[in-house]
Amino acid sequence: PESATYISGASDVAANNNVANNLSNPPLIPLSTPPSPHSILGLDVLFTNPVFAGGIGLAGLGAAAAFGRRVLISGAALLRRQLLVNVEISKRDPSYNWVLAWLAQPRDNRGFLAQRLTRLRNLSVVTSTKSVSPRGIAEEAGGEGGGKIHADFCVQPGFGRHIVRHAPGVYIAVNREKAGTATTATGEPHETLTLTLMWMHRHVLADVFTQAHALAQSFQEGKTVVYTARKMEWAVLGKPRLKRPLGSVILDEGVKEGLVADVKEFLKAQQWYTDRGVPYRRGYLLYGPPGTGKTSFIQALAGELDYSVAMINLSEVGMTDDLLAQLLTQLPEKSILLLEDVDAALVNRRQRDPDGYSGRTVTASGLLNALDGLAAGEDRIAFLTTNHIDRLDPALIRPGRVDMMVRIGEATRYQAAQMWDRYYGDIDEDHSGRERFLKRLDELGLFGGDAQNPNIPKRHTSTAAIQGLFQFNKGDMEGAIKMADGLIPRTFEP
Ligand code: ADP
Repeated sequence: PESATYISGASDVAANNNVANNLSNPPLIPLSTPPSPHSILGLDVLFTNPVFAGGIGLAGLGAAAAFGRRVLISGAALLRRQLLVNVEISKRDPSYNWVLAWLAQPRDNRGFLAQRLTRLRNLSVVTSTKSVSPRGIAEEAGGEGGGKIHADFCVQPGFGRHIVRHAPGVYIAVNREKAGTATTATGEPHETLTLTLMWMHRHVLADVFTQAHALAQSFQEGKTVVYTARKMEWAVLGKPRLKRPLGSVILDEGVKEGLVADVKEFLKAQQWYTDRGVPYRRGYLLYGPPGTGKTSFIQALAGELDYSVAMINLSEVGMTDDLLAQLLTQLPEKSILLLEDVDAALVNRRQRDPDGYSGRTVTASGLLNALDGLAAGEDRIAFLTTNHIDRLDPALIRPGRVDMMVRIGEATRYQAAQMWDRYYGDIDEDHSGRERFLKRLDELGLFGGDAQNPNIPKRHTSTAAIQGLFQFNKGDMEGAIKMADGLIPRTFEP
């Protein structure tokens, strides 16, 4: 074959033929015969190569798998849409913490699979600490003293996915995650909790929320929750504390009963306010020296009404008009607003006027505006306290802002006697100890003094001081009588 060009071929078939026919000739494929399109590109050769063919097969399988996967994914998404229910709970919602606490409850996971599946493994701890001091609603807890730090630990499901077995055959998938870079008003990262369960189990959701709410309430049963302002939001202060019985706060004769009756009447009178288009709120101003039971009374009243206390101290650093107004528009439900040291608002205005002072403080007009804007609709009970009634803006004493003013003053004979009975009633059956104690206080001038006798000047003591004396002499009447002169306020004389 002179004119024909030959190219060396790599076909095994051709090679085999040539081995049989003529071992001297190299395996050749003549180009004169019309070649198949495959053979032009040498594809025949490729397809007959087992390695290549295997590769193609694998690629085919891969494509099929990818396709199958896509079908599965969209099938799963479809199934999820059709068969599953998602409930997203934002951290801003009160139920967020209830559900977290509910999830952390130990549950009875009967069965190997249930245990394998549903034991929470990724937990996070929330620690709250508070210093325990004997004074003040903010610090009062358990009567311990001495500046101890009290810590509470609460275990919660951590971030990530969990599966919880709610009932036999009913599982809830839980996903707790941080929601992007969004933060809450307190600067913490925003979080969401998503509960996923089968569509046919959707009725269980009602149970979940009811149980979580009941659990949250059981933590608070017989307790009073105290909220305080944390940055721009209300936050629970410490753990809910045991309700303070009203009987443990001893005000002068009839004062407590009068206040409680007025508040209860207000709570029954919503229709009256609605009919007249008057905002449904009532303000009380308790004034008088410190340590006379103003704060204790408000705490006990909240317990009596099953309300919480939302407390703001106006002399607190960083409290501004805007912040106060904002906090008052988002008061927690069923809470008594307690504004302490309301005189701070006016003091600040005085400071501001002469020398142009404009620090970050609450002004008197800011306080009035905030009170006027108290969210309408729900009942709003506001208690304002001050030790300096003379420093208040007269505009504060107007219906809707302050409807009732009550002086809570120095201890009277009535209060001293009542407190004695609470502490020593059971060991002083014939009241002789009480009479001697009251006589001693008389001699010290603590109930008005004796105008005729310069040795018995008019003096005052506080109920807090009497309580301190009785606490020190627990179960020891004689000790209390002996130490009664400790009730005289000490004056510093250089
Ligand atoms: P205020 O708010 O008037 O300054 P607090 O209510 O904070 O006074 O009282 C301080 C402490 O003294 C609390 O531990 C409280 O139990 C006790 N106390 C003061 N006054 C009374 C009172 N009238 N009855 C019972 N306890 C009182």
